Amino acid sequence: MQNSHTGCLFTVSAPSGAGKTSLVKALLEQDSHLQVSVSHTTRPMRPGEADGLNYHFVSQADFAALRDQGGFIECAEVFGNWYGTSKAWVQTMLESGSDIILEIDWQGAEQIKAWWPDTCAIFIFPPSHATLKHRLIGRGQDSEDVIQRRLSEAELEMQHYTLSDYLVINDDFQIALHDLQAIVRAERLKTGRQSQAQRALMCDLIPSLALRKP
Ligand code: GDP
Ligand code: ADP
Ligand code: 5GP
Repeated sequence: MQNSHTGCLFTVSAPSGAGKTSLVKALLEQDSHLQVSVSHTTRPMRPGEADGLNYHFVSQADFAALRDQGGFIECAEVFGNWYGTSKAWVQTMLESGSDIILEIDWQGAEQIKAWWPDTCAIFIFPPSHATLKHRLIGRGQDSEDVIQRRLSEAELEMQHYTLSDYLVINDDFQIALHDLQAIVRAERLKTGRQSQAQRALMCDLIPSLALRKP
């Protein structure tokens, strides 16, 4: 895919329960230019979740068929379930200039960064291990053994924070949300993006630019 006139691509990764889904939801409510990718998963639906909204919930066989057809830009097994990001959706959105956000685990974030080096990778940490446990239990949507598994894999997930461009600590929710908004804003203001988005202004201010190819 060409790397010009495209939207920004963000990944958000975090140990389960750190608050990434809540933060991304709040971010989207205040930013109409951002769209979130709806992943495919083989995990069972939680109470309150809806097919096509939180995830596309599919069987193992359907997931494997989609993967074998090259339907995923990345996929990974997380906590014993498969998750994947739709290639067609991501490509269509980026090519149309939309900014998109993927809530994916570190394995997926690594694959996305390799595919699209301009990706802005964000990691979210909880303020403490005790808080992470408290939030996972407080969410009240996973069984005891699922919570234990997610907690025991939290350290492995967090070890991979070094691949990210930004690290946000989700202690006070509003502060973490402002941090995310600042990252999105800064990414949009990068010179390479601005010189594409503000091409007419550039040519007005620096007429010699108009003679050059964009
Ligand atoms: P929650 O994020 O703790 O609410 O738990 P989920 O069950 O929704 O997600 C489990 C894990 O799968 C998390 O680490 C997600 O970031 C990850 N995940 C979700 N969707 C995708 C995806 O499309 N690709 C990849 N690689 N990981 C995903
Ligand atoms: P993730 O998507 O990373 O698994 P969630 O967004 O589901 O995490 O958040 C886990 C739980 O923690 C939810 O019940 C959510 O309401 C709560 N939560 C998220 N951020 C905060 C915060 N800053 N302070 C208190 N509770 C929070
Ligand atoms: P949950 O099942 O609690 O919604 O998500 C568990 C984990 O799966 C989270 O860490 C989430 O980021 C990850 N995840 C969700 N969708 C995807 C995806 O499409 N790809 C990857 N790699 N991970 C995903």
